[in-house]
Amino acid sequence: MVPDTIIIGAGPAGLFCAIHAATAGCHVLVLEKNEEPGAKLLLAGTGQCNLTHDGDIRKFALRYGDHGKFIRPALMSFPNKNLMDFFHKRGLAMVTEENGKVFPVTRKSSDVLAVLLAECMKQGVTIRCNEPVTGIVRAGDSFTVTTVSASYQAGTVVITTGGASYPQCGTTGDGYRLAGSLGQPVTEIAPALAPLLIRPFPFASLSGISFEGMHFSVWRGGKKVSDYTGDVLFTHLGLSGPGILDASRGIMPGDIVRLSFAGPMRRDEFTTELIQRAAENPGWQIGTILAKYPIPERLNRKLLQLSGIPDDLTCAHFSAEKRSALIANCTEFPLVVTALGEFKIAMATRGGVALDGVNSKTMESKIVPGLFFAGEVLDIDGDTGGYNLQAAFSTGYLAAEGIRKRQGHTGS
Ligand SMILES: Cc1cc2nc3c(=O)[nH]c(=O)nc-3n(C[C@H](O)[C@H](O)[C@H](O)COP(=O)(O)OP(=O)(O)OC[C@H]3O[C@@H](n4cnc5c(N)ncnc54)[C@H](O)[C@@H]3O)c2cc1C
Repeated sequence: MVPDTIIIGAGPAGLFCAIHAATAGCHVLVLEKNEEPGAKLLLAGTGQCNLTHDGDIRKFALRYGDHGKFIRPALMSFPNKNLMDFFHKRGLAMVTEENGKVFPVTRKSSDVLAVLLAECMKQGVTIRCNEPVTGIVRAGDSFTVTTVSASYQAGTVVITTGGASYPQCGTTGDGYRLAGSLGQPVTEIAPALAPLLIRPFPFASLSGISFEGMHFSVWRGGKKVSDYTGDVLFTHLGLSGPGILDASRGIMPGDIVRLSFAGPMRRDEFTTELIQRAAENPGWQIGTILAKYPIPERLNRKLLQLSGIPDDLTCAHFSAEKRSALIANCTEFPLVVTALGEFKIAMATRGGVALDGVNSKTMESKIVPGLFFAGEVLDIDGDTGGYNLQAAFSTGYLAAEGIRKRQGHTGS
């Protein structure tokens, strides 16, 4: 079979585009660099695959920073409910967590991939693995796509090579080079959804402790830039967890992240309460007062130590100086960001194929007719919570629709 459409990269965006283009009557060839398709999908959600989010699709666009406007047509053309229907109809039961995250009931990414591969097979999609694409040339109305072992021709090409994070998955930024070689503008790229590296990190010995719904703020040049609430995890190198990963889009090296261990309480409320408790219980150790807050015991001791307070100091001997040190550390503990995690540990890529060079209603290049893009190769990165996979599926679907219209297929 001679393909009319070549898709480069067998991740969720490429496979979903292949399924829908083939369903519409296209002859589709998918070229994948790795031995097997879907390497990154298999890692998603620590192997459990947070497929999408159950929230109102009209509010999804807010989850992609400044680029929500571009992705809106894709999301509306194939929303989260359609995605869940797609998998449900093919036998994959799903569960929605209280926070809206949707997972397969089996908690196995491999089950999600299996549905996609079975559907590709059913629709007659050819997938060739071990075929890293090294070049694309356009001559007349057709493209010649070269891999390490062969070359192929087609009238339509879709680049779905993903980003540059987790390069061990095959995602080494090839799509940016391929797009750039055809004259497609590509932005600077950087790691996104990245943990924060803090050197020295005073809580390194507490690595593994996590905080649900922690309040934290980000400061730059002495001014507060933003406030956040989200789950935070101490690692041995700094901060991670969904709240930090989502906030990382707006954080730069040199910024100060101030953590509140006192829950939603403001500094003045915490101060009043602490002073009152200390006055009412002069014989208590300071650590006993801290234990009244959602502060784990090991952190309790660490905060005392960092505030210069001996473990056995009682409230009767709690000096004003020590008190203000403890209050500052409990409500606004300052951590200077040394760096954001590198590509090898970031969950997504910021930047990519520039959005002003792509038609948001078809995913076709505005510069090279017949060239399409979908998934993370585009300059789109979403929050944690299923938003990145939904973006890959929705843009993959919309690209297939764009191809169908361009090739004049009616669909089946
Ligand atoms: C550890 C981890 C956990 C994640 N968990 C979640 C989650 O739970 N929920 C969520 O929504 N998102 C999650 N993400 C993000 C999500 O996995 C990605 O956004 C999504 O996989 C992007 O899909 P894609 O199809 O665009 O690209 P990818 O899935 O990256 O697929 C691109 C494919 O293209 C291939 N390729 C690259 N270059 C070439 C070439 N030259 N020739 C041929 N093939 C090539 C690659 O080998 C790869 O198979 C996670 C990411 C990571 C790293």
